[in-house]
Amino acid sequence: MVRIGLTHNVNHNSHDPVLNGFPGPENPQRLHQIFTYLSENGIPGNGSCSLFNSEPALIKDILRVHTKKYTDLVQTSTRQSARQLGKDTYLCDSSFEVLLHALGCVLNAGNLVMDGTCDHSFALVRPPGHHAGIDNSSGFCIFNNSAILARYLQEVYRIKKIAILNIDAHASDGTYSIFSADPDVLCISVHQDPSTFYPYSGFIKDIGVYPALGLSINMEMPSRSGNTEYAMFFDEVVEKVLDKFNPEIILLECGFDSYHKESLAQLDLTVDGYYRIVSKLASRWNMVCLLEGGYHEDMGLLVSTVIEGLMGKRTIQDEVDPVLLLASRDTSTRKIFMKNLSKLAMILDPYWEFSDTL
Ligand SMILES: [Zn+2]
Repeated sequence: MVRIGLTHNVNHNSHDPVLNGFPGPENPQRLHQIFTYLSENGIPGNGSCSLFNSEPALIKDILRVHTKKYTDLVQTSTRQSARQLGKDTYLCDSSFEVLLHALGCVLNAGNLVMDGTCDHSFALVRPPGHHAGIDNSSGFCIFNNSAILARYLQEVYRIKKIAILNIDAHASDGTYSIFSADPDVLCISVHQDPSTFYPYSGFIKDIGVYPALGLSINMEMPSRSGNTEYAMFFDEVVEKVLDKFNPEIILLECGFDSYHKESLAQLDLTVDGYYRIVSKLASRWNMVCLLEGGYHEDMGLLVSTVIEGLMGKRTIQDEVDPVLLLASRDTSTRKIFMKNLSKLAMILDPYWEFSDTL
């Protein structure tokens, strides 16, 4: 039986843009929708999926990634009246406690896999983290969840090789900035073409810097890319790179704004696409999933789909006819995708030897 562990920062309600006087998409409703759906569908509690309590992280866990100056700024800013870290990143009175608890859930999700309690885990936390750099917030992200977990796993469990994979619609620019020169951490981000889309970075040409050249992979997906394009990218690039890199664990930056109904992005993943991505990876590697973006009311359905992908056992059916979805879009999408895939393979070929297969 495959065992799945869920963690959840129960105090996340105190981090809410409405408390600062304005509504915003990154709000407590996101996790409420997820947990309502899970409980209505008997998850956790079906035998192999369990919810675990977590202790808050410590400041020293944050300082493995972020500067002390920035960490202090976040903490002190919560006590000020203008509690904005940037134009799109808000703070509330209790945000620092929420962040510590979220990070505690992230670290515990790693512990559950590393100590053998679970095969895979999913930290259902907010706020998200993948846009945060060592000394900056961005895009609702304050501390970088996956980076803090990676550094924790390296120090506490002496893990040598870690892969971080981002499937959020937005490029994982914070994570890239932290690991672009680290040869022990492979960073792959597959996201909507950032030339006209936030965070306006994460291009195919961005492959890391010495001594980690080729260990960062950024795939630009043209708008309306969907299940078939993602499947091709994962089959032709991601799985081959993972085979060669041979990580001990995969941290999945699991954003759900690549979903076809998501209004903040223009990608077309459906339930089928999410299940395929996760189930293929989870059948071969231990995975820790971390909730990133995703603002659609189907978040609960998508989290459940990922959990089923981790289990390798599917009950949720796709309500979308993939042929109709494919037929409804501009024919240029596939052409641009193929061009991007060839460009990426050519640029990364010196490091991964794609030429014999692509
Ligand atoms: Zn996103």
